[in-house]
Amino acid sequence: MNRSQALLEQIRHHCRQPWTLMEVCGGQTHALLRHGIDRLLPEAITLIHGPGCPVCVTGTDRIDQAIALAQQPDVILCSYGDMLRVPGSDGRDLLSQRAAGADVRVIYAPLDVLELARQHPQRRVVFFAVGFETTAPATALLARQALLRGIDNLALLVAHVRVAPVLDQLLADPGCAVQGVLAAGHVCTVMGEADYETLVRRHQRPIVITGFSAEELLEGILRCVQQLERGESRLENAYPAAVAAAGNREAQRLVNQVFEAVDSDWRGLGTIQGGGYRLREPFRQLAIEAPPQPAGASTAITSSSTTGTDTTCPSGLVLQGLLRPQQCPSFGTTCTPEHPLGAPMVSGEGACAAYFRYPR
Ligand code: SF4
Repeated sequence: MNRSQALLEQIRHHCRQPWTLMEVCGGQTHALLRHGIDRLLPEAITLIHGPGCPVCVTGTDRIDQAIALAQQPDVILCSYGDMLRVPGSDGRDLLSQRAAGADVRVIYAPLDVLELARQHPQRRVVFFAVGFETTAPATALLARQALLRGIDNLALLVAHVRVAPVLDQLLADPGCAVQGVLAAGHVCTVMGEADYETLVRRHQRPIVITGFSAEELLEGILRCVQQLERGESRLENAYPAAVAAAGNREAQRLVNQVFEAVDSDWRGLGTIQGGGYRLREPFRQLAIEAPPQPAGASTAITSSSTTGTDTTCPSGLVLQGLLRPQQCPSFGTTCTPEHPLGAPMVSGEGACAAYFRYPR
């Protein structure tokens, strides 16, 4: 019997009643489906796929803003590849703008943007910066280098989001069915355990910091089930090879030097208090500010809401675990990875893309 089989046996042995667990990260969702773990677990365990895909939750207002910037003839607009295919509020994406002649480029590392700005002093180079706390340090480093080197043709459209605040709001919703959480190991590698200790105390649910391989996911599920069966709610680190209790202090210092937390609109979920980052002084001079929100445009998470601006895509329900991707009427018909109606079908970490790729 290999390690995965042994872990499955232990989960079956310990699981005595129905439990609903949420894996936070889209990378974990894809791994669970790819390995078929969801089908091997006891029927009593329900997995909810959380909002851990930064591309999926980037607000349409920010995408619309990126598209408007890309249309300006002096602008070079750069971002990560997945971001180019996410539709904005009117269905257009950055890829279609590139096909129409806009200078839109894929970058793989934020510091590449510095070189681009240096090579094109007559152009305005805009980096559309997305991602969780995992990619925020690299954007922070870019901002610091830009100021240090006096590069004045570089600007940042910041759409970085923070995981702990959205978990806090999801778990606070009285309709939330989640009883235990598998936290995203890579975010904790940067941020450490402190935010999650707070969440455990506040919401009295077990949280297990979990990795991404089949064995690591099974280990996280086992530890969560064991706690639930014993009536416990503790933070456990099941990914100690990568996550230290304090996290990466150097990365945290860098992020705190460059960014401050702000309320942020998450696509499909509404306003998350403290759910995003913006540049703080003196880095603010690099920022392309968000357009003012019309009054009442945003709402907070509720278990019955379909918040956000998507009218054809109920991604908010998918991101809250209230709707399975294959239960969406558009899944696999009018919405496919080639022709996505919503961000969860675009991204390599999106739940809808995972179910499309690994059919159930
Ligand atoms: S299948 Fe498509 S339309 Fe339905 S929730 Fe997913 S992304 Fe949105």
